[in-house]
Amino acid sequence: MFELNRVVRPSIQKLKPYSSARDEYSGSASVFLDANENPFGELNRYPDPYQNELKELLAKEKGVQKGQIFIGNGSDEVIDLAFRIFCEPGIDQALTFAPTYGMYNVSAEINNVDLITDPLNENFEIDVDALKERIKNPLIKLIFVCSPNNPTGNLIDLNIIKSILQDFKGILVVDEAYIDFSSGDSAIRLIDQYPNLIVSQTFSKAWGLAAARVGVAYASDEIIQLYNKVKPPYNVSILNQQAAIKSLRNKEEFDRRRRAILEEKARLHKVLQTLDLVEKVYPSEANFFLVKVKDANQTYEELVNRKIIVRNRNKVIANCIRITIGSKEENDKLMDALKSIG
Ligand code: PMP
Repeated sequence: MFELNRVVRPSIQKLKPYSSARDEYSGSASVFLDANENPFGELNRYPDPYQNELKELLAKEKGVQKGQIFIGNGSDEVIDLAFRIFCEPGIDQALTFAPTYGMYNVSAEINNVDLITDPLNENFEIDVDALKERIKNPLIKLIFVCSPNNPTGNLIDLNIIKSILQDFKGILVVDEAYIDFSSGDSAIRLIDQYPNLIVSQTFSKAWGLAAARVGVAYASDEIIQLYNKVKPPYNVSILNQQAAIKSLRNKEEFDRRRRAILEEKARLHKVLQTLDLVEKVYPSEANFFLVKVKDANQTYEELVNRKIIVRNRNKVIANCIRITIGSKEENDKLMDALKSIG
């Protein structure tokens, strides 16, 4: 049986959160003299600390309750707060599977939490038997699974995610930053069933709002209340909130752009496979390809010389680069450059 209280840091359980002016009064009065704001200007008032309008739209979009949503300053905030809520610094541990998104490790180090990193197998899948042994360790409070995984591009099987949720007494964060590009199902529909699941998504990728910094966590009411307790009071600016609201109201544009990216992805895939310098294009459920080339450092440098920047992942996976799907023009430039490198 999973018990939330056993995985929340005692200091967080005891924490009496900061009560902001907008917590104490949020109605529609006409004179607000409670928050030491400036009466002049356009951005002079503090934003809604709980982002109600955005959450209402998201709840409809995703088929969840408003109380099952947390909005972060990017999903990097969702990751950081998970450490701060569930892992006692210097004592508790967390687990992830490499190669994966680098921020889990950075966030763990910032929070002085030991992050155990088990290798994914040659198909970048989780070794289920090794995992079963691992999660017997009671110090592990948090597991991060990235699906589709960055930088490998593959989905992690939902059955494996379910089996972790069943066996693990801690919290599983499924990072779905790239799920909108994927043909696979989100784990969101599991949050009603599994009280130890957090699904993290973002407006930075398929929604095209990386500059706005809006990340989302979907989880049980109880977990969301913990997030609300620990977050800075006004963690998401009104500009961020409005940007996300605007994009949610224009779903046609979202669909059109996503389709365009997926079409470009198919076009790039075909060309990459014909190039001599390419040894393997890994299957991708995201908006990037992990590509094995003959010499990643050299290919990377040659592309830099042509003013094209890709991500050199050679240190993580030998001779691999990660290429984001760009616009038609950007992809044309990339393909011309790769052809000229030979
Ligand atoms: N998760 C993954 C897997 C990512 O690749 C990224 C961004 N590169 C993030 C989370 C963070 O996204 P953001 O903070 O922009 O929401």
